[in-house]
Amino acid sequence: MLPLVHEPDLRSLSFDELSTLVDRMGEKPYRARQLFRWLHQRGAASFEEMTDLPKTFRERLAQQTRLASLAIDAVQQSSDGTRKYRLRTQDGKLIEAVYMPDIDVEDDDEGAGIRRTLCVSTQVGCAMGCGFCMTATMGLVRNLTAGEIVDQVHRVNTDLKDRPITNLVFMGMGEPLHNYANVMRALELLQHQEGLDISHRRITVSTSGLVPNIVRFGQETQVKLAVSLNATTDEQRARLMPVDRKWNIGALIDAVRKFPSKQGRRVTFEYVLLEGVNDTDDDAARLATLLKNLPVKVNLIPYNENPGLGFGDPGPERLESFRNILQSRGITSMVRKNRGRDIAAACGQLAVQGQRQGASA
Ligand code: SF4
Repeated sequence: MLPLVHEPDLRSLSFDELSTLVDRMGEKPYRARQLFRWLHQRGAASFEEMTDLPKTFRERLAQQTRLASLAIDAVQQSSDGTRKYRLRTQDGKLIEAVYMPDIDVEDDDEGAGIRRTLCVSTQVGCAMGCGFCMTATMGLVRNLTAGEIVDQVHRVNTDLKDRPITNLVFMGMGEPLHNYANVMRALELLQHQEGLDISHRRITVSTSGLVPNIVRFGQETQVKLAVSLNATTDEQRARLMPVDRKWNIGALIDAVRKFPSKQGRRVTFEYVLLEGVNDTDDDAARLATLLKNLPVKVNLIPYNENPGLGFGDPGPERLESFRNILQSRGITSMVRKNRGRDIAAACGQLAVQGQRQGASA
């Protein structure tokens, strides 16, 4: 639970809410735009930075509101350029954001160019209990606020200086659609013209399969969706991902079939290959059958091993064979390069380590 506070958390407010607040404080309307830009374009972490706001206004903001910025707690740098950030919330919780640099892309949706991607977290811990995931071992501690989700981008942008983030994936700690309202607010703020103005084509939200919220998400935003599938039978999936007991593969595929594909938006299925669990040629053939005639693509992900969870990476040959079967059946598939193998880059590893060190300190 967040500590009980009554002051509004400025970075979580919408543009309209911020305008109302500024108006109530007796300030001119243009001050709301200035303040919003400080919060969402320049990513100010303190009121002192907001130098073109009158000092008296800043003092009143400091007394009557909160600016809940994150602090960088640790950074791990990989030889492939990946940077993993452990960030500390104001109430001392640890979350992760992973920066994946300068990928040269030619993408149907985005055109050609350089892509600098940040993977952000949406919750402290996670309630979904996926067996292969380190974050799951924490359980759900609390939802992140919209401001905390957005602030991950600002803290990393500040650290990277003149090489700002171009793309976002909501695939870090937590199930984004289990923190639906705050994630939707964060998406609105990140796409705002007076803020970072990131196009919906450059943002992907990933879900483990919360079917009712997939339907809502499809109706309420144009942001892209990725579905973490990871199995081809319910028996197999329920063992790996307990969410399957509530919404099975059939319900999930049905929701994706109905997902509105505005402006060519295609759903991506994520499939993490786990050695001896879901990586056989039969699995590949079943996956192709499941996705037949759906306008989707598949991301195949070699497992980034988490110590103690008991799963292994099947290796490049198995991955290639799996992919060949999908391709031969007309399913578009890509292999997601495993980034940051030399650092604790698997989801949740760094934050869980930090939590354990904190607990034992
Ligand atoms: S894989 Fe994602 S949804 Fe599943 S437990 Fe981990 S963070 Fe949660």
